[in-house]
Amino acid sequence: MEKTLFQKIADKEIPSDMVYEDEHCVAFRDISPSAPVHILLVPRKPLRDIASATAEDAALLSHLMLKVGDIARAQGIAESGFRTVLNTGEDGGQTVPHLHIHIIGGRSMQWPPG
Ligand code: 5GP
Repeated sequence: MEKTLFQKIADKEIPSDMVYEDEHCVAFRDISPSAPVHILLVPRKPLRDIASATAEDAALLSHLMLKVGDIARAQGIAESGFRTVLNTGEDGGQTVPHLHIHIIGGRSMQWPPG
């Protein structure tokens, strides 16, 4: 099966500004950041989206959730606050069909988003 864009980034076939990696996931800077800090946290496993995850992925999803805080602390935005976004499907505005968590911070944000 053809690798997803984010698998190619995780495998370093496409360059990125990587800020974290381990055996389960990678985190790199979004190519088109919407805030001073905009990181994409991506599992190496090419789950299409959060709705495609099953009980088999429970440990992986838990790992990702814990990495959000670690990455936010490392990026210096844990204290000031940040936003995590998981876009899903067409109406959710997902453009890359490989599950990813946006970690966005470094500026004040409004809610609800547009
Ligand atoms: P989505 O819209 O699917 O939730 O988010 C996909 C994100 O991937 C977008 O914010 C977009 O800027 C980012 N992106 C798309 N292609 C690349 C790429 O080649 N490299 C990096 N670092 N980010 C990308």
